[in-house]
Amino acid sequence: MKVLKSIATLFAAGALVASAATGAFAQDKGQIGIAMPTQSSLRWISDGNELKTALEGMGYTVDLQYAEDDIPNQLAQIENMVTKGVKALVVASIDGTTLSAVLQNAADQGVKVIAYDRLILESPNVDYYTTFDNFQVGVLQANSLVKGLEARFGDDKPWNVELFGGSPDDNNAFFFYDGAMAVLQPMIDAGDIVIKSGQQGMEQVGTLRWDGAVAQARMDNILSANYSDGSRVHGVLSPYDGLSRGIISSLRGVGYGSGDLSWPIITGQDAETPSVKAIIAGEQYSTVFKDTRELAQYTAQLINTVLSGEEPTGLDTSTYDNGVKVVPSILLTPYEVDISNYEERVIASGYIKAEELQ
Ligand code: BGC
Repeated sequence: MKVLKSIATLFAAGALVASAATGAFAQDKGQIGIAMPTQSSLRWISDGNELKTALEGMGYTVDLQYAEDDIPNQLAQIENMVTKGVKALVVASIDGTTLSAVLQNAADQGVKVIAYDRLILESPNVDYYTTFDNFQVGVLQANSLVKGLEARFGDDKPWNVELFGGSPDDNNAFFFYDGAMAVLQPMIDAGDIVIKSGQQGMEQVGTLRWDGAVAQARMDNILSANYSDGSRVHGVLSPYDGLSRGIISSLRGVGYGSGDLSWPIITGQDAETPSVKAIIAGEQYSTVFKDTRELAQYTAQLINTVLSGEEPTGLDTSTYDNGVKVVPSILLTPYEVDISNYEERVIASGYIKAEELQ
């Protein structure tokens, strides 16, 4: 009776909430705002859900918003979160340079800001950055491309390769591209790889908003302008599964994957279910698996540490300069996934259920 009474008293004071994650009672530690870029990619949906569950399990309430790749929309969502008095903001930005004013407001109110997966640029008010080793993602993509080219077209050199980059307003896109070119540029210089379109550098190969339709249209143009002479594409560096699917559609349109026109080696990123299916079908060669469950857990723990007034330890304090300061970062490990290891990496780890790939 005594216990019940004290719980009732605490409830009245609003000091306890039921945790959605565990069903248990936890202390109400305040609200956290999570601003995600879009639901058009599966990874952000799972990032949002994992973060929400982890934070609720720790006793926070969560305002989770998606901006559908619309910059003013994301800005308004974050402004609203700050007005509501969130204690921390987790932001996976659409354009990492557009948030300075709202983050100043947040900082003035003592809100902790975590750039999630994508660095927020040109603002002093970014406290932490949680992400994967993005340069390494590019290295893995290029190494996988070369491995596939050797295996499928070993004798057929030079290899004709086309390059795709991510969205130029996403800092990650440059890290992916630079990581990949660290591997590919020496091979281009040596004449082992030829970029038939001549299109190189992020200003030429970037794909605004990571849009698969934009990549598909660019691949269509590349094919008609450079491969109508009977030559073939051997490989495509693609930084993201959603772009890879557009590129595959374009290639399919001119006959790749049928008759004796085998698929080029096509890379990707995020281990999205439709793309792992495409790997199993032999259309896409590889992807890069980043365990977003892990990223969410680390981020939630970081928030809890910081809001408890403790100093987080073991952070990288040299890699990510946002133009104003080096942002202390947590960098998790990405993994290459292809037909030989997808079962171990994405199914055995529980990231995708085997039946989803049927
Ligand atoms: C993320 C990638 C993702 C891409 C497109 C990048 O910022 O790091 O995992 O593929 O955005 O959503």
